[in-house]
Amino acid sequence: MTALQIGATIGILGGGQLGRMLSQAAARLGFDVHIYCPEADCPAARVSARHMAADYDDAGALARFAEACDVITYEFENVPVATIEVLQAQGALVRPGATSLNVSQDRVDEKSFLNACGIETAKFAAIGETGDIAPALDTLGGAGILKTRRDGYDGKGQVRVVTGDDFKAAHRALANAPTILEQLVAFEREISVVVARDAGGETLCFDIPKNTHVNGILRRSEVPSGVSGEVEARACAAGVTLIDALDHVGVLALEFFVLADGQLLANEFAPRVHNSGHWTPEACQSCQFEQHIRAIAGWPLAPVTRFFDVEMINLLGEEALPPALDLSGRDQLTLYGKRSALPGRKMGHVVRRLGPAQDGAE
Ligand code: AMP
Repeated sequence: MTALQIGATIGILGGGQLGRMLSQAAARLGFDVHIYCPEADCPAARVSARHMAADYDDAGALARFAEACDVITYEFENVPVATIEVLQAQGALVRPGATSLNVSQDRVDEKSFLNACGIETAKFAAIGETGDIAPALDTLGGAGILKTRRDGYDGKGQVRVVTGDDFKAAHRALANAPTILEQLVAFEREISVVVARDAGGETLCFDIPKNTHVNGILRRSEVPSGVSGEVEARACAAGVTLIDALDHVGVLALEFFVLADGQLLANEFAPRVHNSGHWTPEACQSCQFEQHIRAIAGWPLAPVTRFFDVEMINLLGEEALPPALDLSGRDQLTLYGKRSALPGRKMGHVVRRLGPAQDGAE
C-alpha cells in the first residue's frame, strides 16, 4: 500500500476510549474515521465521521465496512479473529493483522510466544481441569495466580491461590474456564514499553513509565520509571523483538515485572495503544495515538521526544465527577464521555506535569 492520502477513511473496530483518542488523532492528521462496534452509542462514535453499529459476526455489515474504509485497525484485543479474516477476505487492509490478536487473546499462547522470542515471563502452566492445579502449584513454588486464558481484563478473571486452598472453589470462581496458573512474582515495580512500528519495519519506543495497579486496574503511570537506563534499554529491546516477530504495524504495549535485581519478566502485551501511554499526548512531540495512525496509514513515524516528567492518573467510576474531581493548575483532564460511572470503570484520566512549576501553575 502507498501512504494514505488526506481525507482517506480509517476504520476502527471497537468504540471505547482508545477508539475515541485514536479518532481524534486521525482527525488531526486529516483523516476521516469510521467506527464499527455493536453498541449504538459509544465514546468513539461521538467524535468520528461515521459509525456502523453491528455485531462482529455480521458478514453483510463487515462487507460494507470493508468497502467504506481504506485501512482498518482495532482498538481492543477481544475482537474475534474471524472478524479480521472476513474483512481481509473482502479485500480490506487490516493493520495490525490477525496474528497479534490471535496471540494476545490467549494467555498461554501469549506467554509461549514471548518465551519463543527469548522474552522471559513468570513460570506458568496451562490448567485443563481443577485436578491440574495442585501439582502445577507445587512446581511454581506454592503461590500463584489462576487466570482465565481468554477474555480477562483489568484484573477480572483472576484469583490468587496458595498450597492448601480450596482449588475447586477457586476454579469455580472462574466458571471452570480453561485457565493458566502463573507463579506469583515478587516484583519491585511494574513498567511497560509502548512501541510503534511502521509499514517499512522502522520502530521506536516511548519513554518507559512505572505503572501502579490497584486491584488489577492501572491506577497511575509515572515517567521516568526510576529504573536504570540499562533495564529500560532491555525492556525496549524486548518490545522491538516482539513487534518485529509479530510483524505488527501500529502500536503495541508490553508490560513487565521488574525484580529487585533488575531482571525483567514480561507479563502480557496489548496489540494496541495502551492506558500506560495516555500521558504521551500532553508530554511528547507526538503521541501513541498519532504513531498508530501514522503507521497504519503507511506514513513514517514521528519523533516521540518527551518534554517533561509526568504522571497519568486514571479516574475510575465516580472519581471523574464533581465534586470528586479536584484539579490543580498542573493537571490536564481527559474524559471519555461514558454515560454511566460504574464502580471501577475507566471514565477519564488526568495528566500532571511533574517538576518545577512553570508559568504560575500551582
Ligand atoms: P494482568 O491482568 O495479567 O495484567 O494482571 C493485572 C495485575 O495483577 C498486574 O499488573 C500485576 O499487578 C498483578 N499480577 C498479575 N499477574 C501477576 C503475577 N504472576 N505475579 C504477581 N502479580 C501479578
